[in-house]
Amino acid sequence: MADRKVRVRFAPSPTGALHIGGVRTALYNYLFARQHGGDMVFRIEDTDSNRFVPGAEEYILESFRWLGIDFDEGVSFGGERGPYRQSERREIYQQYVKVLLDAGKAYIAFDTPQELEAKRSEIANFQYDASTRMQMRNSLTMSKDEVEKLIADGTQYVVRFKIEPNEEVHVNDLIRGEVVINSSILDDKVLYKSADQLPTYHLANIVDDHLMEISHVIRGEEWLPSAPLHVLLYRAFGWEDTMPKFAHLPLLLKPEGNGKLSKRDGDRLGFPVFPLEWHDPKTGEVSHGYREEGYLPEAVINFLALLGWNPGNDQELMTMEEMIKLFDINRCSKAGAKFDYKKLIWFNHEYVLMKSDEEVAKLFVPELEKKGVEAPFDKVVTIVGLVKNRVNFVKELWENSHYFFVAPTEYDEKTVKKRWKEDSAHCMTELMEVLKDIDDFSIENQEKIVMAWIESKGYKTGDIMNAFRLTLVGEGKGPHMFDISWVLGKEETLKRMKRAIEVLK
Ligand code: GLU
Repeated sequence: MADRKVRVRFAPSPTGALHIGGVRTALYNYLFARQHGGDMVFRIEDTDSNRFVPGAEEYILESFRWLGIDFDEGVSFGGERGPYRQSERREIYQQYVKVLLDAGKAYIAFDTPQELEAKRSEIANFQYDASTRMQMRNSLTMSKDEVEKLIADGTQYVVRFKIEPNEEVHVNDLIRGEVVINSSILDDKVLYKSADQLPTYHLANIVDDHLMEISHVIRGEEWLPSAPLHVLLYRAFGWEDTMPKFAHLPLLLKPEGNGKLSKRDGDRLGFPVFPLEWHDPKTGEVSHGYREEGYLPEAVINFLALLGWNPGNDQELMTMEEMIKLFDINRCSKAGAKFDYKKLIWFNHEYVLMKSDEEVAKLFVPELEKKGVEAPFDKVVTIVGLVKNRVNFVKELWENSHYFFVAPTEYDEKTVKKRWKEDSAHCMTELMEVLKDIDDFSIENQEKIVMAWIESKGYKTGDIMNAFRLTLVGEGKGPHMFDISWVLGKEETLKRMKRAIEVLK
């Protein structure tokens, strides 16, 4: 037991886009598996055919490729314990349903929806359990012949788990500690439906975790209420010795106020709740994704890692490698984690800064192409280096650097009013002459010569620089002035000055 290999799984149901909470769950599984040299399995839980959404599985896989979370085994990855799509494992589940039936731990029930409805109106708080099951139409109340005949006639039935009342059920959770409940509060859950010859989530989930030798079940808090039932199923199968350890992760909460994070919070406050853009095939609705909105996958991962866990000090920026080393499932918080999307924007800024200018430039080139701009790559690299500390997103580089690529055609009115003085045209004409004579157009040399000229003329540095900036940029923004003229080069600088003087005269 002690030496059991760590094997975890991420087991989504393909019912739509992957919610960001699901990404956090997958990430924690991934960090845990990697730090223990264990395996990470990707299983698709698609036994509820009514909720199946085409494209969801591919979407989930694509999301993890983008985020850099990789799996060792599972749908699309292969492995020895497949198939990993539950809809392809019918025969396996049928076999295990039979095991429970034969052992008297489950029974067949024929109650129709109408009959169940009738019972509900007859008995207050009706629950199908030890207190009521003997009043129902099932294999416990009918003769064997009757049951066999109904099945032979093609009557629909379900298989229910026969939960013994008044037993203590202990769930040991790595995050929540020990939770004890009385089995009497549980109902005889449906494990299998003849209608589609498929098990329900509970049976399939337990059988697969067992057969796939899962050692730890790390999943969202919403599954905590199912855990006692799962413990009882392990018991019924006699699999207690290899029952996985549970860890139920805290909820993701709204950025402000109370309650669970929802897609509406994202829509209202302007952040996505999905990793990638999602086109709902049923409604046609398109939902934003972090990738398309310009977030870097490293930033998303780093941000999510800290929603429910922290390394015990105030370190916030961590590479995946560091997180794998530092992550500690026992240090995860029980309390819900506020989804502070502004913090994610900060992370994105930090990750843009951490990337080399070349890397950011590579991401920027497609944006430039969209604007119809072609520029030598090393020029893009230089410009990125000058402005990247001003942006949170690569897509914001353009508004902070367009003037490097495209000469201004207009001059910002407010800036002109404030910065273009009566003698500006005259001074700029003089400055053009000064610049024309500079052979070494380096930042330092320009600065030295221009400053000496300003001083010799008794001009005000501010006035000259502001007017100069207006001629090159078209407004009052941008990095250091000689950085700009150096990147533009002498010829372009003079050209822009000449035009500005003509227009603003
Ligand atoms: N199929 C469940 C889901 O969609 C898996 C829950 C679990 O991890 O046990 O989240």
